[in-house]
Amino acid sequence: MAKARFVFVTGGVLSSVGKGIVAASIGLLLSSRGYSVGAVKIDPYINVDAGTMNPYAHGEVFVTEDGGETDLDLGHYERFLDVNLTKKHNITTGQVYLSVIMKERRGEYLGQTVQIIPHVTDEIKSRIREVAEETGVDILIVEIGGTVGDIEGLPFLEAVRQMRLEEGFDKTLFVHVALAPELSTTGEQKTKPVQHSIQELRRIGIQPDIVVVRTRRPLEAEARRKIALHATLPESHVFNSYDVDTIYRVPLILEDQGLGSLVARRLGLQDGKPRLDEWRWFVEKLTNSSRVVRIAMVGKYTRLRDSYISIVEALKHAGAHLGLKPELHWIEATDIEEGRVDVETALEGVDGAIVLPGFGKRGVEGKIKAIRYLRERRIPTLGICFGLQLTVVEVARNLVGLEGAHTTEVDPATPHPVVDLLPEQRSVDRLGGTMRLGASPVKLVEGSIAHKLYKLDVVMERHRHRYEVNNKYLDLLEAVGLKVSGWSPRGLVEVMEFDRKIHPFYLGTQFHPEFKSRPLKPSPPFVGLLAASAGIAF
Ligand code: GLN
Repeated sequence: MAKARFVFVTGGVLSSVGKGIVAASIGLLLSSRGYSVGAVKIDPYINVDAGTMNPYAHGEVFVTEDGGETDLDLGHYERFLDVNLTKKHNITTGQVYLSVIMKERRGEYLGQTVQIIPHVTDEIKSRIREVAEETGVDILIVEIGGTVGDIEGLPFLEAVRQMRLEEGFDKTLFVHVALAPELSTTGEQKTKPVQHSIQELRRIGIQPDIVVVRTRRPLEAEARRKIALHATLPESHVFNSYDVDTIYRVPLILEDQGLGSLVARRLGLQDGKPRLDEWRWFVEKLTNSSRVVRIAMVGKYTRLRDSYISIVEALKHAGAHLGLKPELHWIEATDIEEGRVDVETALEGVDGAIVLPGFGKRGVEGKIKAIRYLRERRIPTLGICFGLQLTVVEVARNLVGLEGAHTTEVDPATPHPVVDLLPEQRSVDRLGGTMRLGASPVKLVEGSIAHKLYKLDVVMERHRHRYEVNNKYLDLLEAVGLKVSGWSPRGLVEVMEFDRKIHPFYLGTQFHPEFKSRPLKPSPPFVGLLAASAGIAF
């Protein structure tokens, strides 16, 4: 039996009601009491991981230190808990079935009929326990994605129902997060959907210990009373997560209601005073900083903001650190490309810009136009991954004079493949999990902007890309002022920046610095961008 306690978080009524934030908040309330906490996200879809999913539908793919392509909730967990999680912290139906079927083929279930109960549920339980054992945490939060009642979620709910029996009542806790909608005509809070979702949970044998009700405005006493009654819980076990100005305030409002203390006591842990001072400081800085910096966000999936959620959060962390309020101006590169807006109008009046990561051809010429404008107007810019690669293309074309220069991702027949596949990537024929993924060391060049920002010679940053800047063109690029300021151990380009004579602040990173930004440890490239955009020395 694992030594860890388990907190299972389920959701009712609707998805996207902030279950991940509640799960992360419970984690923070426990870690701030001195306990080690991890968090697992269960995604009941059949994909093995999030790597091949469209960011429009699912939001960002969050990359872990060990190269997992995971659900964006892992990003919330890492930011709230200030820990590095692994790919094992994201369990999907695809992974579970894949391994059950492989075991069956290897003959590990010889003679048996392989079934959802017990084989699939055993696989789920052993994956959850494996994370708890390998990480040795005191508490493992396990969030079950989707909504109670979904067909896909059933084997997972059954597995955690069994875990209560096997781990013991005092080692397990069920938290149900459900939405109580408000009628727009009368403003009345309706509890019926919450009641039904609790019934649905009970029907499969799970009685929640705690209910967190999501509402627009603070929960009314009468609504709380009704929910408690239907949930067979004392009113003190019904909590309320109402809309607040920032997700980072959610743990604080739940702490004020006594959630941290209840969870600790219920799990047989000593309850202490939580150390949330720094967190509170961060929330105050975040919400009180009033000096605006306008940052253009140039990319392709800009209509679903969740596609770039870690970048948006990283800007908030850096903003709070500097006492600045980043105001984001989303610029859809396809609009520039297809002539719906011109680049001058799109970028007029911005103080700085991020050229966002991305894949594929659509919107690329729009991004290149934006990059040229940002370079010529000397606007502070951070190019991330594809953003760096397309800067190389822009500079090769317009400063070096290599007509038709391109990345072979977009133009495989370009005469000047300034961004190209490495030989070993050429032979890869599958798309799932085959990119350069996860953290690896980056050696920063002394005297560079990057070195000045990180204040370190070597940093570990996370990657998710297939193409690389082509070293054959480096001499030409450096001759026009685009210099390499960070290298991988095998000599691949990791960071590039313009000579200060050409541009005051341009940083392009092949890695994704956003994945390691934390509220109290802002990522240096974002701090640099905001400082440069606001004219603050760094
Ligand atoms: N499409 C580019 C590549 O695969 C960049 C990827 C990214 O921006 N994450 O290399």
